[in-house]
Amino acid sequence: MKMLLGDQWVDREKTIDVRDPFDNAVIDTVPAADAADVEIALAAADAARATARAMTAYDRSQVLLATADIVADNLEDFAETIAREGSKTIREARKEATRCVNTLTISGEEAKRLLGETIPFDSFPGGEQRRGHFERVPIGVVVAITPFNDPLNLVAHKLGPAIAGGNAVILKPATVTPLSALKLCEAFMEAGLPSGVLQCLTGHGAVLGDALVSDPRVRMVSFTGGLEAGERIVSKAGLKKIGMELGSNSPVIVWHDADIEWAAETCVSGAFWAAGQNCIGVQRIYIHRDAYDRFKQLFVTHTKDYTIGNKMDEATDMGPMINEGEAKRVERWVAEAVEKGATVLAGGSRKGALMEPTVLENVPKNATIHFQEVFGPAVNLYPVNDLEEAIAEANSVDYGLHAAGFSNDVTTCHRMIEGLDAGSVLINDSTDYRLDSMPFGGIKNSGLGREGIRFSLAEMTEPKVVCWYLPGLRPE
Ligand code: NAP
Repeated sequence: MKMLLGDQWVDREKTIDVRDPFDNAVIDTVPAADAADVEIALAAADAARATARAMTAYDRSQVLLATADIVADNLEDFAETIAREGSKTIREARKEATRCVNTLTISGEEAKRLLGETIPFDSFPGGEQRRGHFERVPIGVVVAITPFNDPLNLVAHKLGPAIAGGNAVILKPATVTPLSALKLCEAFMEAGLPSGVLQCLTGHGAVLGDALVSDPRVRMVSFTGGLEAGERIVSKAGLKKIGMELGSNSPVIVWHDADIEWAAETCVSGAFWAAGQNCIGVQRIYIHRDAYDRFKQLFVTHTKDYTIGNKMDEATDMGPMINEGEAKRVERWVAEAVEKGATVLAGGSRKGALMEPTVLENVPKNATIHFQEVFGPAVNLYPVNDLEEAIAEANSVDYGLHAAGFSNDVTTCHRMIEGLDAGSVLINDSTDYRLDSMPFGGIKNSGLGREGIRFSLAEMTEPKVVCWYLPGLRPE
């Protein structure tokens, strides 16, 4: 595919192969953008600020809703693209494409609800003759950088609010999964988005990143990805807004009075969705000692029932990791944990990029798989005796995106809600749940700021105060 630069779809002599991680087959190529392309994109976006700002709320809403319709009308094509270039099975990919329709629809609706407030200028002496309000105006040029694991919907989570807010936006999708993003850009153009308002640069973040994020014409960098790249971006960005949606190592607490069958079933799905390459995937499960054996038996049984293999096969539950190198890393982390005393209850083996769904117990605290983000299909079980201990253990890592707790006692649930340090606490559900309109984001190393269209829209616009001085309004 070509990339969208300025008002044109362009090729470059230097290209990057896009491969299916299941069989390593080349499915397409994209241009490898360079520094000169970054400059073209920045200049074009800067020039398109006025075009984007001139679109009325109605115009923006219509384009977003029309784009949602195009994705909905071509859902299977989008799903196949997600499944071919990434790790998701075709069933998982359909869910992502459907969520993308939701994300764009919410963006189209929110474009009409970009509200300000009246300001009580007379709330202090000296303001009697003044009246006014604030409204929200576009921030200008937004750079959006996205990861590989949700190659369509996480792109929509940036383009939707950026366009709803009246901004020009430059997208830099993950190098391994650029096709879903390019197709979404095509849909935006087909829906009538004025040219220049959206551009998509394909190429390596390590090559393009510094120039893109440090340029003063860019007013906001909205990033979703890993901690390392996030920290680099923060160090380079300079004076501009930053949105950071980073990784996690999500904990779940399962109490003895919970519905253990449901907890096991939903946590297995939460651990192995997208082969565990999921920022809100279940990684550590703390189970009350009285329920431990039952939960473990159910969890391992459900895990062993998983069918892994060809992503395009309707019967497949879990596909490969994004590449063999990543699968080898998870295999290494499992081996390290075992060396330090962990026991493998299920899985543990790897073939190419296919890592088996893996369940561990007795994982020591100094094992990498305990305290780092695994971002792969491996989950750790731990027995616990009391709730304070469970909460303290759950909070003991440097991440805090989602946390979850299972119990049938309201007070126990409230203690979990109050004790767990995370952007969201899910009760009687796994950590792997997100509604696209809810505030989404984390604390600690999980990030800064919140997405979820209304919340991203607030980040991607600025309040502009209008104050009228009206002498004679209230004669002194
Ligand atoms: P990644 O390696 O950090 O890459 C993310 C994006 O950043 C890619 O487009 C990448 O480009 C780009 N990038 C890399 N270095 C850069 C630099 N120096 N400057 C600018 N951009 C740069 O992450 P990933 O492996 O794709 O995704 C996995 C991570 O994302 C996990 O940690 C996961 O938890 C996190 N994640 C978080 C959320 C959330 O909402 N909180 C959602 C999904 C994923 P290249 O592809 O060219 O390297």
